[in-house]
Amino acid sequence: MIRVQLQASRDVACPHCAERTTVPISDEDVEVTISPYVAAFGDHTTVTCSSEHTYWVYFCP
Ligand SMILES: [Zn+2]
Repeated sequence: MIRVQLQASRDVACPHCAERTTVPISDEDVEVTISPYVAAFGDHTTVTCSSEHTYWVYFCP
């Protein structure tokens, strides 16, 4: 799939309530993995949904 955007981003879903959030990514080719807990690998960002669930989004180039 090819998308043209100013800022690469991915839609991710909260693993607790499935609320969708858009997170910026550094590269359009990157794969994202959602984790409800901290894992000791890779680049990641933390997301808190509107229900205050915190989860981790890992970037796998
Ligand atoms: Zn949630």
